Amino acid sequence: LSQIIALAAQAQRSRAPVQRQADRVSSWFVPVVVLIAILTFLLWWEFGPQPSLGFAIVNAVAVLIIACPCALGLATPMAVTTGMGRGAQLGVLIKDAETLERLGTIDTILLDKTGTLTEGKPSVVEVHPLPGLSARDLLACAAAVEAASEHPIASAIVAAAKERNLQLAKVKDFQAVPGGGVIGTVGDKEVFVGQAAFLKKKGVFIDAECSTRSAELQASGFTVVLVVLDGRPLGLIALTDKIKESTKPAIEALHGLGLKFKMLTGDTRSTADRVAKDLRIDEVAAELSPHDKLVHVYQMKEQGRHAAYVGDGINDAPALARADIGFAMGAAGTDTAMEAADVVIMNDDLRRIPETIRLSRRTHAVLWQNIGLALGIKAIFLGLAVFGNATMWMAVFADMGASLLVVGNGVRLLRK
Ligand code: AMP
Repeated sequence: LSQIIALAAQAQRSRAPVQRQADRVSSWFVPVVVLIAILTFLLWWEFGPQPSLGFAIVNAVAVLIIACPCALGLATPMAVTTGMGRGAQLGVLIKDAETLERLGTIDTILLDKTGTLTEGKPSVVEVHPLPGLSARDLLACAAAVEAASEHPIASAIVAAAKERNLQLAKVKDFQAVPGGGVIGTVGDKEVFVGQAAFLKKKGVFIDAECSTRSAELQASGFTVVLVVLDGRPLGLIALTDKIKESTKPAIEALHGLGLKFKMLTGDTRSTADRVAKDLRIDEVAAELSPHDKLVHVYQMKEQGRHAAYVGDGINDAPALARADIGFAMGAAGTDTAMEAADVVIMNDDLRRIPETIRLSRRTHAVLWQNIGLALGIKAIFLGLAVFGNATMWMAVFADMGASLLVVGNGVRLLRK
């Protein structure tokens, strides 16, 4: 909680690049105005009707009041602060003002599959031993190794074993291969649980029955892991990870905003293709290691695309940090991912992503409206004051009134 508070405080202190531009405008605005006021005073004193000193003072003071740059100073912070406030109401923590501005330029979204598009809590749907073996033995063997892993697949396999009241043997020499699987010694035998692609690389022969069943399950969108004992396949375990309820509507809304998608996953190609097809995602990159995901982020940059990366795991942290905008899922995500990201979606609802992008575009529009309002009102009344046509109440309106208009326009962002 204290980290989130610190992040929010930092966000409020940050300045958007346009804000810096507005500050620069304000900095030369003041000397110019003082000069105009002095000129007005001198011209009215010299050439004005009697009492010329009186007219000179009143008109010069009107110029000063009108030109007070309050409204201009408020124009951008008002839009940015209310924009971030609206984000907070939606459960979206935007880390700084610059992020809010950059969000509007995003054209591509890179999405991690597990835990972002899906619930991230897979469950075992099928245990398929090779002939001569029992499903219970296969599951017990896999769960013994997985008990030492923190991967969601591991938790699912251990949970399935516990449901069946299986006794798990102790594991030694446990080793996790990121994006590949796990290896450990159970009894005096080496057990491997993980992806077929990784096994093939290690030279393990996978028999025809296993391959066929595995391909069928993957084509239906299931994740399949193989269990291998001392280099001999024992069978396979199929898992499914439900697509989050918010995923489909979020993707439709993002399509509506004209954005392109690419799904990145460590899962196999056929499983990934099936999920992407169901979700109408244009591009898929499968069988990736955490490092490959980072490479995809760099590729997007090279192609001149402005990509946001959406992820939740420690694995995703480098990609989250390097992407133009990193969106981290807050509720189920890891601290590391939240720290590396630019935007944290606190309630894990993917629909917040299109809403945040829309919010950024609206904030941008309000910001320029505010600058236009502030400068426009000031310019009109300044012209009137120099020529002696502005009364004192007009001057006050041009000052306070412009500030109030800018504030009012900014507050519109808080509406749904
Ligand atoms: P990840 O990049 O973590 O999503 O993992 C990619 C793939 O590696 C998964 O789809 C599994 O096939 C395999 N894998 C990773 N960790 C494990 C594990 N603990 N148990 C079994 N398979 C795993």
